[in-house]
Amino acid sequence: MNAISPAPAQRAFPLWVPRRVLVTPSALAQPHGAAAVERAAALGAEVVRLKADRLSGLPDTYRDAKTTMAVVMASPSRRRPQPIPPSADWRFDLAEGCPAHCQYCYLAGSLAGPPIIRAYANIEDILAELPPLLGQGSVTSANAARAGEGTTFEASCYTDPLGIEHITGSLDRAIRFFGALELPAGQEAQLRFTTKFDAVEPLLALPHERRTRIRFSVNAAGAERFEGGAPRMPRRLAAMRKMALAGYRIGLTVAPIIPVPDWREQYDRLLADAAEALADIPDPDLTVELITHRFTPGSREVLQGWYPGSSLDMEEASRTRKLTKFGSTKWVFPRHTMAELRAALEDAVTRRLPAARVLYWT
Ligand code: SF4
Repeated sequence: MNAISPAPAQRAFPLWVPRRVLVTPSALAQPHGAAAVERAAALGAEVVRLKADRLSGLPDTYRDAKTTMAVVMASPSRRRPQPIPPSADWRFDLAEGCPAHCQYCYLAGSLAGPPIIRAYANIEDILAELPPLLGQGSVTSANAARAGEGTTFEASCYTDPLGIEHITGSLDRAIRFFGALELPAGQEAQLRFTTKFDAVEPLLALPHERRTRIRFSVNAAGAERFEGGAPRMPRRLAAMRKMALAGYRIGLTVAPIIPVPDWREQYDRLLADAAEALADIPDPDLTVELITHRFTPGSREVLQGWYPGSSLDMEEASRTRKLTKFGSTKWVFPRHTMAELRAALEDAVTRRLPAARVLYWT
C-alpha cells in the first residue's frame, strides 16, 4: 500500500537551514551564541569558528550570502535603541538579515555588504538597554490613542526574527524578558515584531503576560509572487490565529500595498480571510498597519542586482518623488493612486475587521 502523504496545507513550512555558520570567539563564549551554533550544527549547517572577532571569509554572491549566518556580538553602538516612528517608541535589534527572498525587500539599501544574517549572541546586553527607556519615547508613549500599548519596542526593523528563531532562540528570550519586567503601577511595556513566517509553536506557551504583539506581514494574492522563501498567506493567518488563541496581542502589517490587477477584490479577500481566522477569538487586540510600496534609488539598485528577472514595477516614471526626513529621495505612488488605495483599504478594514485599530497609513 502506498504511504499517504499529508495534504500540502498540513505539511509544515520548511525551517530555514543555513549552509554555513560563522561564529566569532566572543560570540561563542556567550551561552546564547553557543546554543545558536549548536542548533544550527544539529540542523546540518557547517560551523566555521573564526580566530578573531572581526568577520572574515564573507561570501560575495547573493545566493551564498543568503545561506550564511554569522553569530556575532552586537557592538555598543548596535545595542543602542533608536526611535522608530510611526511603528513604535524604540527599535532594538536581535539580528540583521533575513532568510526570505522578497523582491521588494525593505532591507535592500539599508544594510551594508552581502545579505548574510547576523545573529547577536550578547542578547542580555541588548535587553539590558531597554528598561531605562520605559516611559520615554515619541510614539506610543506620547500618543493618547496608543497609550494603552505602553512603551513599545520594535524588534523586526532589520530582520524577520521568527524566520530564524529555531536557531537563535532570541524571541523566546525577549518574550520572557518582557513578560518578567517589573513595571511601576500605571506603566506598560510591549515587545513588537513583524513576521512572514509561521513556526509559532515554540512561542505559544511562553510566559508572555500579553506584553508581546506579533504582527503578520500579509499581502494580496497577486503580490505573493514577489515573496520567495516565506509561507503563503493561509499559513500566516493560521499562525496568527494560534498566537491569538495563546493570548498574544496580534496585528496585521499589510505591506507593501501594490495596485496589482484586481487589487480591490484581492485586499478585501485578504482582510475577509483574516477576519475568518479570528472569528471566534474574543479579544485579539488586533492592530493594522498599512504600508504602501516605495523604493529609494539605492534600494532599487540593490534589488535589481539581487532579483534581475523581477517583474516588480520600480519605474520612477510611474511614481512620485518624496524626500525622506533625512533629505534623501524615495519613490512612492502618485497622489491619486495613494488616495484610491487608502480609501479602499481603510474601508475594507472597517467592514471586515471592525474591532481592529488602524495604527497608521504610509
Ligand atoms: Fe526582506 Fe522582510 Fe522579505 Fe525578509 S521577509 S526578505 S526582511 S521583506
